[in-house]
Amino acid sequence: NKRILLKDHVVGPAKEGDMVASTETVRLEVPVGSKGVLLKNLYLSCDPYLRTLMNRPLDGQEESGFPPFKPGSVIIGFGVAKVVDTGHPDFKVGDYVWGLTGWEEFTLISNPETLFKIKYTDVPLSYYTGLLGMTGMTAYAGFYEICSPKKGEFVYISAASGAVGQIVGQYAKLMGCYVVGSAGSNEKVNLLKTKFGFDDAFNYKEEHDLAAALKRHFPQGIDIYFENVGGAMLEAVLLNMRDHGRIAVCGMISQYNLEKPEGVHNLFCLVTKRIRMQGFAWFDHSHKYDEFVETTRQHIKEGKIVYVEDIVKGLENAPAALVGLFTGRNVGKQVVVVAQE
Ligand code: NDP
Repeated sequence: NKRILLKDHVVGPAKEGDMVASTETVRLEVPVGSKGVLLKNLYLSCDPYLRTLMNRPLDGQEESGFPPFKPGSVIIGFGVAKVVDTGHPDFKVGDYVWGLTGWEEFTLISNPETLFKIKYTDVPLSYYTGLLGMTGMTAYAGFYEICSPKKGEFVYISAASGAVGQIVGQYAKLMGCYVVGSAGSNEKVNLLKTKFGFDDAFNYKEEHDLAAALKRHFPQGIDIYFENVGGAMLEAVLLNMRDHGRIAVCGMISQYNLEKPEGVHNLFCLVTKRIRMQGFAWFDHSHKYDEFVETTRQHIKEGKIVYVEDIVKGLENAPAALVGLFTGRNVGKQVVVVAQE
């Protein structure tokens, strides 16, 4: 069983060498009488939050819902897998599932109730690492539940061509909003405008004054900001928000590699403009999963939602793929193929 382990806690920018490939020779099977399942992992999802779990735990953090990784342990993340052995009455051999699994060829899951069964296989199974899985659910919950969107509103999305951003932008267009996204290369900007149907887009790396860039794109101000990045971008957005605007804080990738996160200086704008700024986590909305899959699947069928994945082959290439999220190497959702279906 080939696996990817965390070497040690990471300080500063994560590097490929912070993870190491190793081979485990034990034969994995579901113990007799257990309700576990054995998964053959097919696709792994590279997600920015994995970096935050590589930090040395702060006091009390071990007990939280998302415990940090221990040095020498296998990386645990979201993936798509096939059930190859089962002791659980709800899972059959051959079922496809998505959920938390190991960065390894095979994973024994003792509590399979945390896994989502894949009902529809008429789309590529890799979509369940993104568009129809955790990432899509994040976009759905974040946009419809947290942003309180209305037709005609002005929406801005950072890291817009990425896994979450590309979907949020398309939901916002379907809602009848005016949507602008930013991304870190001209190729990505082009994708936003031509493939995902954003009204406009810009390359934030080419702007020396982000607040001025936003003013140019939103002369009347921003009603909704879908926050993926944090740092200097958030500062600039706060200056450009309209009264009673909403900021959905999905993530702050610019902060994950920092030993000490930056402070935010323009927060008083929340008071003067009566802005609602709210963090959220997709799993608090997982009761909406069936509704989300049905609607999004329909949108895919009707060509109203399109999707871009960046597919890397081979488990051994997963560390580089993960690290690449922090330099913007990925174009679209970063997926790693572990095995053929
Ligand atoms: P992406 O597919 O968007 O990949 C990350 C992208 O972020 C990179 O491609 C890069 O794009 C951009 N980026 C990297 N470093 C920086 C930086 N320093 N400043 C600005 N942009 C940067 O990732 P996801 O769509 O999977 O995740 C987007 C956000 O959503 C993250 O913050 C993540 O933590 C969060 N998230 C939150 C969830 C929740 O439940 N709250 C669930 C899932 C994700 P570019 O080339 O454009 O710079």
